[in-house]
Amino acid sequence: MFRDKCHIKKDDKVKILTGKDKGKIGKVLKVDRKNDRLLVENINVVKRHTKPSAQNRQGGIVESEATISWSNAMLMCNKCLSPIRVQMKQLDDGKKVRICRKCSEVIDA
Ligand SMILES: [Zn+2]
Repeated sequence: MFRDKCHIKKDDKVKILTGKDKGKIGKVLKVDRKNDRLLVENINVVKRHTKPSAQNRQGGIVESEATISWSNAMLMCNKCLSPIRVQMKQLDDGKKVRICRKCSEVIDA
């Protein structure tokens, strides 16, 4: 069902498909493969109440991203500027890269 999930990597741009951030685009900060979750910059920002600490002497409310389910995000193609499905392609030197199924643009730099 989530056959494309393993193609999302850190620093990828993804589009959010559901939830309060639906339609937004963010950069992947962290991939949690074990739990099928992604941490995306400025997506699913939640307020957390914190106790005073060395970094934050006053404590209080801090905003930070919470992870989202992998299935709620789709990889963006820089050329198509839309969410796409990717295909794996092996280069002449044996390196595997991801390419856009729509425009054949190589996603990996
Ligand atoms: Zn494309």
